[in-house]
Amino acid sequence: MKWIGLYPSKNDASASFFLLWTAPQYWAIFVILFVYSHATVHMSQFSFANALLSWFDVHGRHDLPWQVADDPYKVWVSEIMLQQTQVKTVLQYFERFIERFPTVADLGQASWDDVAPYWAGLGYYARARNLHKAAGMVARRGHFPATLEEWIELPGIGPSTAGALMSLGLRQYGVIMDGNVKRVLARFFAIEDDLSKPVHERAMWQLAEQLCPVERNHDYTQAIMDLGATICTPKKPLCLYCPMQQHCKAHQQGLETELPFKKAKKPVPVKSAQVLLIQSHDQWLWQQRPNSGLWGGLWCLPIIENPAEFEQLCQSLGLKKVIQRTQIMHSFTHFTWQLEALCFAVDPDQQEHLAIELNGTWLAPQSATAMGLPTAMKKLISALNL
Ligand code: SF4
Repeated sequence: MKWIGLYPSKNDASASFFLLWTAPQYWAIFVILFVYSHATVHMSQFSFANALLSWFDVHGRHDLPWQVADDPYKVWVSEIMLQQTQVKTVLQYFERFIERFPTVADLGQASWDDVAPYWAGLGYYARARNLHKAAGMVARRGHFPATLEEWIELPGIGPSTAGALMSLGLRQYGVIMDGNVKRVLARFFAIEDDLSKPVHERAMWQLAEQLCPVERNHDYTQAIMDLGATICTPKKPLCLYCPMQQHCKAHQQGLETELPFKKAKKPVPVKSAQVLLIQSHDQWLWQQRPNSGLWGGLWCLPIIENPAEFEQLCQSLGLKKVIQRTQIMHSFTHFTWQLEALCFAVDPDQQEHLAIELNGTWLAPQSATAMGLPTAMKKLISALNL
């Protein structure tokens, strides 16, 4: 099935017959209405939701730490951690985070410096900063949002996370459209279009809403996430074990690994930077990254991205003899960073001057690690083998 234009809505259905036959977009709607009516017939013979829920009852995940009690805060933290991150990674961070910040008030009242070490290593730090900021707002208000719109007003919460919070956190009606759902639906209906285009994104939401039941909505939300994460996986879907197998269009057409549509990947640029490891006795000079931007608010060794600036800086700071150097590559979604660490030793009487010049703080490596270092920084330091 290939969507050619807009997905049908109640308003579209009232479009004039004349327009339907003359304007290309209404032709598209006509085609989609036809396809959708077939999908509806298809769905009337086979209930997507019932099949999914029956599968979930036996094979779904029922014992994740954020599922133990109905606690919107725990669901919220888990949903933010799970963005771009798999459950098995989140499990390593979640319990420690909740132990340190057991309630939304604890998180909201903490300083960012307290929160950062508990997120360091999970990546995508803007998520954590938004969660921290939003927790502060909720803590000050004294209650959780009660509607989808109120959740969306908080920083870092989009429509899908808000839907999950309504459904899983508050046990009210909520619809989600995360990567798992998109993949399952794109395959089940064999949708070949580029789903990142807004028009198809809207259509997918409509489809998700049509399928999402009011009854057992909470279980359905968890079930569709589980199906996408454990059976209808991105690379090797386990169709043999899938409750949708008999009715899945992609499976019938042998398209399961082709869908959903993937854009050809652009080559990722490689950027390089120098990292200064300045040692004085057992302390190193650290900088806290600016709040916005890459690794916002985390602690790092000074990073200089411009080679000319690096040479000048070393000269002006009197850093001459490199005692060790190493290089690592670290991949982000939008670029690869080639980081070269250069290690210098300085006398204690230079400490104050260097701290002022580089706006840094002298700390033992263990203390800086406890304050939260990005994974790449840890990788670089361990490659130095000091
Ligand atoms: S049958 Fe295969 S492709 Fe279709 S929904 Fe199930 S796992 Fe995904």
